[in-house]
Amino acid sequence: MYHQPVLKNRRTLLERAEKFVSDVYFTDCNLRGRLYGDSRPLDSLSSFLSLERITFAEASKQNFEPYKVGSTFGPTWWTCWFKVTLTVPESWRGKEVHLRWESDGEAMVWRDGQPVQGLTKEGEKTSYILSDCLEDAEPHSLTLYVETACNGLFGAGQGSAIAAPDPDRMFSVQRAELVVFNREVRELLTDLETLVDTVKVRPPARLRTRAECWRPLCGPQELGEGEQRGFQALFAANEMVNLCDPFDAGSFPGARALARGFFGQKNGQSQHTVHAMGHCHIDTAWLWPYEETIRKCGRSWVTTIRLMEKNPDFVFTCSQAQQFQWVKSWYPGLFSQIQHFVKKGQFVPVGGTWVEMDGNLPSGESMVRQFLQGQRFFSQEFGLHCKEFWLPDTFGYSAQLPQIMQGCGISNFLTQKLSWNLVNTFPHNTFFWEGLDGSRVLTHFPPGNSYEMKGKIEDLVKTVRNNKDKGRANHSAALFGFGDGGGGPTQLMLDRLDRVKDTDGLPKVQMSSPDKLFSQLRADSALLCTWAGELFLELHNGTYTTQAQIKRGNRECEALLHDAEVACCLALGRDRTFQYPDQKLQELWRLLLLNQFHDVIPGSCIEMVVDDALKYYEDIRRDGGAVLQEACGALGSRGTAAGVFNSLPWERHEVIQTAGGAGGPALALVRVPSVGLSLIEETQPATPVSVTVQADGTVLMENGILRTVVNKDGTLASLCLIDANREAISDGCHGNQFVMFDDVPLYWDAWDVMDYHLQTRKPQQEVVQPVCVARPGGLRGSVRFSLRVGERSSVTQEVVMDATCPYVRFHTEVTWAESHKFLKVEFPVRVHSPNATYEIQFGHAQRPTHMNTSWDWARFEVWAHKWSDLSEHNFGVALLNDCKYGCSVRKNTMTLSLLRAAKAPDANADMGTHHFTYAVMPHAGSFQDAAVIRCAYNLNFPLRLMGCSPDTVPWSAFSVSSEAVVLETIKQAEGRKGAFVVRLYESHGSSVTATLSTRLPVKEAWICDLLEKQDPTQPALITTGGVTLTFRPFQIVSLLLIL
Ligand SMILES: [Zn+2]
Repeated sequence: MYHQPVLKNRRTLLERAEKFVSDVYFTDCNLRGRLYGDSRPLDSLSSFLSLERITFAEASKQNFEPYKVGSTFGPTWWTCWFKVTLTVPESWRGKEVHLRWESDGEAMVWRDGQPVQGLTKEGEKTSYILSDCLEDAEPHSLTLYVETACNGLFGAGQGSAIAAPDPDRMFSVQRAELVVFNREVRELLTDLETLVDTVKVRPPARLRTRAECWRPLCGPQELGEGEQRGFQALFAANEMVNLCDPFDAGSFPGARALARGFFGQKNGQSQHTVHAMGHCHIDTAWLWPYEETIRKCGRSWVTTIRLMEKNPDFVFTCSQAQQFQWVKSWYPGLFSQIQHFVKKGQFVPVGGTWVEMDGNLPSGESMVRQFLQGQRFFSQEFGLHCKEFWLPDTFGYSAQLPQIMQGCGISNFLTQKLSWNLVNTFPHNTFFWEGLDGSRVLTHFPPGNSYEMKGKIEDLVKTVRNNKDKGRANHSAALFGFGDGGGGPTQLMLDRLDRVKDTDGLPKVQMSSPDKLFSQLRADSALLCTWAGELFLELHNGTYTTQAQIKRGNRECEALLHDAEVACCLALGRDRTFQYPDQKLQELWRLLLLNQFHDVIPGSCIEMVVDDALKYYEDIRRDGGAVLQEACGALGSRGTAAGVFNSLPWERHEVIQTAGGAGGPALALVRVPSVGLSLIEETQPATPVSVTVQADGTVLMENGILRTVVNKDGTLASLCLIDANREAISDGCHGNQFVMFDDVPLYWDAWDVMDYHLQTRKPQQEVVQPVCVARPGGLRGSVRFSLRVGERSSVTQEVVMDATCPYVRFHTEVTWAESHKFLKVEFPVRVHSPNATYEIQFGHAQRPTHMNTSWDWARFEVWAHKWSDLSEHNFGVALLNDCKYGCSVRKNTMTLSLLRAAKAPDANADMGTHHFTYAVMPHAGSFQDAAVIRCAYNLNFPLRLMGCSPDTVPWSAFSVSSEAVVLETIKQAEGRKGAFVVRLYESHGSSVTATLSTRLPVKEAWICDLLEKQDPTQPALITTGGVTLTFRPFQIVSLLLIL
C-alpha cells in the first residue's frame, strides 16, 4: 500500500511532514491551513474599562462603547470588559462552532452570569466552543462577556519577565470572530505532530545537558537516526502525507488509520510507567498581585472543569487551600462544580497546606499551621485528607519537614526544585527523605524536572531517561499544563498523551493521581536510597535576605500571634467566661500563612505584592495586638498596677523598659515566672553595668558577665567572657565589622547571590559619628555611633549591655539607598570547629565551616532562624537576631546577612529605613548548656507590659522540668472550646524525660498529632507533678489538654 519510491533521504521526508502541519509555511495548501472552515464576524463588540477588579454583576451594568478589533486598551493592571453579541448561521448545522478570540492579557468568558472558560494566547487557549455539533434547537443568538485583565500570564515585566512591571503597557484584541472548527483536521494534525516528535527523539547518548535545553531543537545531528522505531514513525508520517488531501475530508480516515496502526503497537511489560497528572502551578502572588491570582484561579480552573466534562479520565492535581478559599468566595458556582469533580476523583486537591509556602523561613509552628489550616479546609470542603506534601517550586526544604509531614498524616512528598542546583546534581529522583528526628517520607522528584510539561513525546522520554533510580523505581510523575502564572492543561495535551498510552518504543503513560503513583512507588521501595537532613537548594540564596521588611513582619507576627494565643489560653484557664477569639486568630494566622507563600516571604515578588504583604503584617500587628491586650487585660483582672507578662516557658530575669512615671519611660529589672506574670518590682542587679570612656576614645562596657571594648568606629576590639576568662574576638580582628559586597547575580536578581560576590568584600569604616556614651550604665549601658556605608547609605547603631544579660545587643538603624550591594556584619571569633550550628524549625542543624567538597562550598550562604553558633569544646560564640535569616560561618568568621539591593522584580526593593537587632553571645560549655536557645527566644519574644491588680502574686501557668524541652505553643484546640493544645519539642538533640506542670485545672491529657487528632491509645498520665513525657532528639510532642 505504500507509495514508491521512498528514497533514503531522511531529512527531506521529515521536513516534508513538518511543513505539512506547519502554521507558518504553506498554509495555503497544507493540512494546518484547513483547521478552521468558514468564519463570520460578531454582530457587535463593545467594551468598558475598569481600574478595579470588579464583579460580573457590577461590570454587566456598565455602559459599553463600541470596540474595533486592533484598537488598544489598558494600561497595565486595568481590566477591559467586552460585551459580545453573535449569531451563528443556521447553515452551520452539524458543525463544531467556536468563538475564536486572540487578545493580549488573560481573559475569562462569562455566559449567563457565570464564568465558563479562560482564554489566553500564551496558554494556547484561543477558542471558546459554542457548539460541538450545531443543532437547530440550540440558541443561535448569544450575548457573552469577556473579562480581559491587562496583564499576561507572567505579569507585565518591562523587557524581561522578571523585570519590574511596565506600568504603561497597552493591550489589544487581534481577532474576535465565529469560526467552523474542523475536528478531524485537528486529530490528524495531532497524529502527525506526535509521529514527527517520535522521529525526533534523540538517542540516549545525546541526552541534552541543562545548558542545551535552552537551545531550540533543530539540525539533522539532533535526530534519532539510530532508532528503528524512529524510522517507522517517519515512514508512517510520510505515507500519511501521501494519502491525505487537505481539501478532501474523505481522505482523512485512511491517513488516521495509518497513525492508529503505529500507536497501537504495544509496549513490553518492563517499560517504565509515566504517571501523567494535569497541573497548573499558580503562584499565589509573584509578578502580579494577590488579587489577580484570584482571577487566575478562576480562569485556569473553570477551563480545567470544561476539559473534565469532555475527558472523563482526565485527572488534575491542585494545591493551596487559600486558592480554593478564594474561588469559593469569588466564584461560588465554579466552586460547586469543583466539589463535584473532586468527588469523582478527577479534581484532586493535594499538598495539605494553606499555601505552597517557603520551605526554609517559616517557623516550625508556622509550618504546622500551614498544614493545620490546609488539611482542615480540605476536610471541611471536600471531606478528604491530603496524603502527600506538594511543594514543587520552593527554594530548599528544612530538615524538620519530614517530621512535620508525618505529624500531619502525610508520608509522601513531591518536589522538583533541586534540579535547579547550580553546583551539584542531586543523586536521586525517588528516595526516602529522613528528617532531623529520623522521620522518613517517601519522596519523588519528577525526573522531567518540570511541573509544566506539555504532554509531548520529549517530556515522556526525558522523564524516563533522567530517572536516577533506574531499576529501583519503575514509576514517575509527569505534571502537564501551563504553570507559574496559571493556564493549566489543554485538550491538545490530553490528545497527545492519549495517543501514546501504550506504544512500542515509547514510555508507557497513564493518567494517574499522586495516590496511585506513591502507592506504586511504596509497594516496590526495597531498593530506594535514603537522604538524611536538609534538601538545600544551591541557588536563590539571596532570598534569605531580600525584602527585609517582609522578613521582619513575618518574625514579629509569628511572635505576636504566639503571645496572643498564650495570653488568651491563660485568660480562659483562669476565667471560663473569657471569650477565646478563635475566629479572629484564625483570620490573622491565615494572613501570616499567606505571606509565607514561596515568592512573597523570599522577597522574589513585585512591589505591588510587597505593599500588600506589608499591609497584611500591619493588620496582624494591629488586630493581634488588640487580641493580646484584651487577653492580658482579662488575665490581670483589669487592674492598673504595672505588671509584666512572660509567654516563654522559663523564668526570666531581665531589664525592661516600663511605662515609667511622669518622667517618661524608665528601666526596671524584673523577674517573671515561666508562662506567667508578675508585678514590676524594682530590684537591683548584683553587678550594675559600667561604661567607661578610655583615654584612646574607645569605650569599655562591663556587666559582670561580659566585658567589651567598643572602638571609635563601632567595631568591637574585645569581647571577653569574664568568668571563663576567654576572649571571643579573633586575634588582630574586630567584631561587629560591617562589610559590603558587590551583588550582581547572573539573572535572578532578587533571588540569587552568587559565590563570586565573596571576592568583592569591602569593610565599611567611614565614621560619621564616632562612638559616644548613650546610657551611662546601671541597669543598662550603651554607646552609639554612625557609619557611612556604601555610596549613599548609613548605619546608626546603639550597642547595648544590660545588667544580668549574657549577650551584647546591637540596635541597628540603616538608611539604605544602594544598588546591587549586599551589607553584612562579621564577627571573627576565637573558635575553631569544622561545623557551625544553625537554628531551624523545632531544632538545629549543623553545616560545615570549610569548603572541602563542592557540596560544602555550594553552601556559601545559608539560612537560620533566631541564632547560629560556633563552638569548640567548652567555649563558643552565638549570634542571635530578631528578624534576619541569611547567614554563614566560614572558618572562624560568623556573618549575618543584613540587606540586599536587588532591582528586579521590584525596582525599589529594600530602599529606605530599616530597624533590626542582633546580638553576640560568647559562652562557656556547649550552646545547649549555655542556654543560647533560650536567649534567642528572649530576644525575639519581649516581655510584655500589662496591667495587674495590686495584690497580684507571681503566677506561672506552665513550666517544664527539662531545659532541653521547649514548650513552644499553647492554643485552644481547633473547634473545641475548653480544650487546649500544647506543643513541646526537644531542642538540644537529646533523649530526655520531662514533666510539664500546669496551674490550670486540667482534667484529661492526651497525646495528639499536629492536626490535633487525639490518639485514643495514648492518654498522658497526669500526676500531682504534671504530665511526664519522653522525647527523642528533636521530637515534637503535642498534647490535648481538656479543662
Ligand atoms: Zn511557584
